Amino acid sequence: MNTTDTLIVGAGMAGASLAWRLAQRGHAVTLLERESQQGAHSTGRSAAMFMESYGPPQVRALTRAGRSFYLQPPAGFTDDVLVSPRAALIVGRPEQSTELEATWAALSGGGTRVRRLSGAEAVALLPVLAPEQIGGAVLDEDGYDMDVNALLQGFLRGARTAGAQLRVGAEVVSARHDGAVWTVQLASGETLQARTLVNAAGAWVDELAQRAGARPIGIEPLRRSAFTFRAPEHMDPSGWPMAIDVDESWYLKPDAGQLLGSPANADPTTPHDVQPEELDIATGIYRIEEMTTLRIHRPTATWAGLRSFVHDGEIVIGFDAQLPRFFWLAAQGGYGIQSAAGASLLAVSQILGDVMAPDLAVQGVNAQAVSPSRLR
Ligand SMILES: Cc1cc2nc3c(=O)[nH]c(=O)nc-3n(C[C@H](O)[C@H](O)[C@H](O)COP(=O)(O)OP(=O)(O)OC[C@H]3O[C@@H](n4cnc5c(N)ncnc54)[C@H](O)[C@@H]3O)c2cc1C
Repeated sequence: MNTTDTLIVGAGMAGASLAWRLAQRGHAVTLLERESQQGAHSTGRSAAMFMESYGPPQVRALTRAGRSFYLQPPAGFTDDVLVSPRAALIVGRPEQSTELEATWAALSGGGTRVRRLSGAEAVALLPVLAPEQIGGAVLDEDGYDMDVNALLQGFLRGARTAGAQLRVGAEVVSARHDGAVWTVQLASGETLQARTLVNAAGAWVDELAQRAGARPIGIEPLRRSAFTFRAPEHMDPSGWPMAIDVDESWYLKPDAGQLLGSPANADPTTPHDVQPEELDIATGIYRIEEMTTLRIHRPTATWAGLRSFVHDGEIVIGFDAQLPRFFWLAAQGGYGIQSAAGASLLAVSQILGDVMAPDLAVQGVNAQAVSPSRLR
């Protein structure tokens, strides 16, 4: 049986970005995905935003570290533009000025261009905001829309070209380490061997850990639902900023000529092919109509995806403290697309035993603060 260097379980953005980085370094990689295509779960269901102002400190540091990758991907990575500017407007009602001030204080001075705006200035930028409901805003001028599919396909294509084996319809059902290598069994009965096993199984990371004999990290998958709807006639939303409520109870953004809305729900559930509840969509419509002049008659599409967190809200990157050569790339929460370039850079340095890349260190990435051992 051939023994590969690294076997990655899960071909969402996390697994694909790591496969690309390892293959670029001449490392033998196999990327396994249970579904018939890569990116079918959280990765294919995101809101596609890049906001350095969004997420806990280590996620924000990894996001900043990955920014130059998205703006100027390596030659040959893609023919598409991966990111296009889309400012983000964090809005508050008149009685939420304390929350807005705290947000502004937390974000200013962090390397991201942020401005504190009055309610009238916010409405001038996003003309469908209801003026009487908006007390003020914080504007993140460094936000971007991401082309998630182009990014995922770039990672997969580049990994394959550099020699990685990409397999779909390949579910890992068990894994054992014999002191030297991992032997992994697929649902088909086939077995594979690898020196390092990477757990990039998204909402299923604890299930996979149990299949490999590792202690779970306490992953909590949370359902978030979203919908698209038509913009008002005679209005072109393409240049509008994204808008998100300061306590994250709804958001709204232009999306391919339409508008995308969400109740920003975070409903605990089990790892599964999650679907939107009718109540989620109704709640999103209600909250957006309350804060804007928009009237949403019928969504053109609805969906839901899982955002998976551990208890401190930070990402998990690093070798398991107990099992040899068992690597976690997990708990990306609601930031796994924007943080993927930085997170995979940190993961590859640890798997190959390199020192941390200067791009990460300069942004304040701290390996211990994201390591699985902090959760014990
Ligand atoms: C509504 C919504 C909006 C979001 N908006 C944003 C945003 O604007 N910006 C942002 O950066 N992030 C956003 N996110 C978060 C982002 O989508 C996730 O953090 C990211 O996609 C996680 O990627 P992943 O590769 O870890 O997981 P996934 O994409 O879920 O991939 C994990 C894969 O592992 C596979 N797998 C599991 N178990 C096995 C097994 N035993 N064998 C083989 N394969 C297995 C699964 O089939 C799955 O394909 C959003 C998420 C949602 C739901």
